[in-house]
Amino acid sequence: MPALFELEAAFAEAWADGSFRAELDGLLRDYAGRPSPLTECHRLSEELGVRVLLKREDLNHTGSHKINNVLGQALLAKRMGKARLVAETGAGQHGVATATAAALMGLRCEVYMGEVDMARQELNVFRMRLLGAVVRPATSGSRTLKDAVNDAMRDWVATVGDSHYCLGSVMGPHPYPWMVREFHRVIGSESAVQCRSLLDGASPEVVVACVGGGSNAAGIFSGFSEDPNVELVGVEPAGGAAVGHGAPGIVHGMLSYLLQDEWGQVAEAHSISAGLDYPGVGPEHSHLADSGRAVYPSVTDAEVVEAFVLLSRTEGIIPALESAHALAWVSRERATLAGSTVLVNLSGRGDKDVAQMMDVLADRL
Ligand SMILES: *Cc1c(COP(=O)(O)O)cnc(C)c1O
Repeated sequence: MPALFELEAAFAEAWADGSFRAELDGLLRDYAGRPSPLTECHRLSEELGVRVLLKREDLNHTGSHKINNVLGQALLAKRMGKARLVAETGAGQHGVATATAAALMGLRCEVYMGEVDMARQELNVFRMRLLGAVVRPATSGSRTLKDAVNDAMRDWVATVGDSHYCLGSVMGPHPYPWMVREFHRVIGSESAVQCRSLLDGASPEVVVACVGGGSNAAGIFSGFSEDPNVELVGVEPAGGAAVGHGAPGIVHGMLSYLLQDEWGQVAEAHSISAGLDYPGVGPEHSHLADSGRAVYPSVTDAEVVEAFVLLSRTEGIIPALESAHALAWVSRERATLAGSTVLVNLSGRGDKDVAQMMDVLADRL
């Protein structure tokens, strides 16, 4: 608890400090490549009968929205006088992003990764090591993401004097869900301005994003949640629908919807995209679901594969499999959405998924 109180106070103070904000804005612009563009999809829109706009987080340095959060947390860690970052990673994307920010700012970096995930995601293990990080296998439980979170939290508790825990989504104990959403708020703020300029002052009718822990969704929702005319949609994988099929439970310091068995043990999530394999969801999404402000439908792996091919063919953009979940929902609901304008958060690019899809699509291509 003292570590969390220290972090909460430090973040609140930094976030209210113009010089911290200016330094972070500078990094987001000159290092990460912000603002990311808003792309109108002419051919896809014609195909679906829905006007589709993409927020291009895939064009950020390291290929996804994750850089927004890690640059913010690494800068905060430095300000707090910490010399070392600890992180968890599932598919390896957050580990790579954290190792990137650590290299940029001269911080030591240790990343916990489930032993099973390390074997599945060799390339990201190599990337982290290349960037100077130490990768430690999590060997307990299912040896996947939730076990890596456990180990990262244990490490942090023992090393909090010189270490900051760089958590990868809008989950875990306060202040993380709040802080990580604030670091991703830039997605929503930019989108709101870009949409107003493209749509003559209007907002899109629907804003849709994929949901693993929920950080890219929280980021883009934050730009539209005050506008009651905008419908917010978070799309979960059918095999990891924490809001859709989970029950309230407590894990990793948060109370939220969670996949669990009849005894309250955390169940494993399964999805074609390793980045959405988390059995829970950030608590703010549980709140948005309960209050009815946002809805959380799910899509199947087969629908995701179709959306992956569809965007590649119609727009020349290969999406991350995670982001393809959001597109898959738009494609499935095209009749209901006909004639409306839908903003999709394209959370990442698909280069990392091409080898996997080569097997999946082997018979077709
Ligand atoms: C990690 C990742 C996600 C899932 O994380 P959220 O916290 O739900 O945003 C989604 N898309 C991409 C491209 C990712 O790398």
